[in-house]
Amino acid sequence: MIYAANFKTNHTRNSTKNYIGKLINFVKEEGVKEDIYIFPPSTALDKFNLPSNITIGVQNAYPVENGSYTGEIGLEQLNEFDIKTIIVGHSERRTIFGESQELIAEKFNFFKNLGYKIIYCIGESKEIRDANQTMQYLWSEFDDIDIEYNNLIVAYEPIWAIGTGISAKKEDIDEVLSALRNKIKVPLLYGGSVKSSNIKEIAGIKNCDGVLVGSASWNIESFCEIIKNR
Ligand code: PEP
Repeated sequence: MIYAANFKTNHTRNSTKNYIGKLINFVKEEGVKEDIYIFPPSTALDKFNLPSNITIGVQNAYPVENGSYTGEIGLEQLNEFDIKTIIVGHSERRTIFGESQELIAEKFNFFKNLGYKIIYCIGESKEIRDANQTMQYLWSEFDDIDIEYNNLIVAYEPIWAIGTGISAKKEDIDEVLSALRNKIKVPLLYGGSVKSSNIKEIAGIKNCDGVLVGSASWNIESFCEIIKNR
């Protein structure tokens, strides 16, 4: 299993340092060998002394080396901290910040050409699901995305399950991941209200290779509990 923690707009530089220190201890004490990715806010990026299975990535970046892109960070800022992992296409980037599939593909291709590990997110809204358009919609989110990229991880995150406390049902996750698996050979994650009480069930889904966790990852004890309960 892969465990990814998306801090979103939570945590400071100081609290991230604290969190990572506790995570390192936990991983050592429990002998956790699985891959763990932490996505703190970009103000908390730093050079951490990490075991090989913990990676720090960014939640977003602009597909440029540097330049005039107010409010954004580019490659120059990522290189300072040896960042090589990025989330692309998160539903909050798509909906709140209006990122088009064209911009998302541009980001994808920019970071793909640099060999980044990319966690590429897709997910349908409740309206799309209710209209029975889920798979059609999800495939449209792969426009201009190389699904054979070898450093790719795909995260299926139904928008209606994100931050609601109510995860998608096991059968629904299973159905979507199985359909994705027919065409996509890279690891598949599920995201949407994953917590310690549902991780076992989610981890047991056939094509689920890991989880992308938002709210339940912000507290280190709660994130460790998820890993423990797998
Ligand atoms: C997310 O936004 O990637 C996410 C999965 O959030 P939550 O776990 O809070 O639903």
